Amino acid sequence: MPERITVDGPDLVYTTTSSPLIVPDWPIIPYIEGDGIGPDIWAAARRVLDAAIEKVYGGGRKVEWLEVQAGEKSFRETGEWLPEKTLEILRSHHVGIKGPLTTPIGQGMRSLNVTLRQVLDLYVCLRPIRWHRGIPSPIRNPHHVNMVICRENTEDVYAGLELEEGSREAARFISFLADAYGWKIRPDSGVGVKPISETGSKRLVRSAIRYALYNKRRSVTIVHKGNIMKYTEGAFRTWGYEVAKEEFPGETVTWEECGGNPDGKLLIQDVIADAMLQQVLTRPVNFDVIATTNLNGDYLSDALAAQVGGIGMAPGGNINYRTGHAIFEATHGTAPKYTGMDKVNPSSLILSGANMFRFLGWPEVDDLVEDALEATIDDRIVTYDLARLMEGATEVRTSEFASAMIERM
Ligand code: NAP
Repeated sequence: MPERITVDGPDLVYTTTSSPLIVPDWPIIPYIEGDGIGPDIWAAARRVLDAAIEKVYGGGRKVEWLEVQAGEKSFRETGEWLPEKTLEILRSHHVGIKGPLTTPIGQGMRSLNVTLRQVLDLYVCLRPIRWHRGIPSPIRNPHHVNMVICRENTEDVYAGLELEEGSREAARFISFLADAYGWKIRPDSGVGVKPISETGSKRLVRSAIRYALYNKRRSVTIVHKGNIMKYTEGAFRTWGYEVAKEEFPGETVTWEECGGNPDGKLLIQDVIADAMLQQVLTRPVNFDVIATTNLNGDYLSDALAAQVGGIGMAPGGNINYRTGHAIFEATHGTAPKYTGMDKVNPSSLILSGANMFRFLGWPEVDDLVEDALEATIDDRIVTYDLARLMEGATEVRTSEFASAMIERM
């Protein structure tokens, strides 16, 4: 699943109502259960998603879930953290879903999440962040928060190009930089490289603009730190505007061109990252789709999630719009202290799964899941993370929260 994909121009065409992927009515979708709280939240998400599909399509559509191995469970059973077979299945089935994975520390292993994104070249990290009715929020007008972050997923400091302080390689690199460029770096430094390419930047901004146009969003804001890092973050900004101007001249307009009145066109603007973190708090209504580099996107995603209920509520997907490969995932980690306690909030993985069905062209499933979530929270039935912020809430377990959602479909 899917049997084949239809390619339109450089990116696949993705709209709110139809998917670029040809998806059978009974697709096989691979899943990685995840470590720590993964099994608890995956069990809850699977029940909710299956129930929504059954409710929407009767027996007409159904998913066959296929477990693939990664993380601690895989290491225990196969001796490998990320077996080649898992990558093969994710490649051949195109779209999958995963719970959180432990990053093994001090074994020379890179994050499995980062590896998955890089191996499948999932260059867009798509994080829709919107407030759901009833969710406690630290800001006054949380209903103004309705943004979609398109975060570049393969470059920047996440490329993993780092040399350890005290190593021979770091010393060699520092001495090379001194000889070649006259750069003075303290000898007791660790050093890293931050690559930002024209290719990587343009394909990210292109996808963000296409997403915004197809979903009838108002603006794309390019977020960067170009005032300090001119040839990486600043170049990202320049390339972003170039894409808008050269590839979407009739559909987009910049702030300078329109003075803030886009007149039905898609507004392209840019904001420096630190100012952005302030403005999404004070004036969230001004922002819609956000196109940004990897590290900025990481900070911004969690900061925005905090405004709409925390990371337990925030969905995410990693997507390659050219090949149609995608992995949707819980955006939080494995929260190991809650392992096996049936306690945590499964909403992040549930909403990620719902977003996956929208991507697959089954948007009714997403709509039903989001409605059921709001109805459950309206009835003040929540897991511990929200219960501690809400008065008069009924605190339930992960599995009970899933049941409450299903009852409200
Ligand atoms: P974390 O697992 O996200 O947990 C941090 C805290 O966030 C938890 O203690 C809990 O806060 C809250 N939280 C997380 N998930 C929640 C949920 N579903 N419901 C309610 N609250 C939730 O971050 P971490 O402790 O820094 O990382 C642990 C491991 O996860 C590390 O190995 C890390 O590498 C990995 N990780 C994986 C991913 C991924 O797979 N995408 C992402 C991030 C981290 P309270 O204690 O306040 O209740």
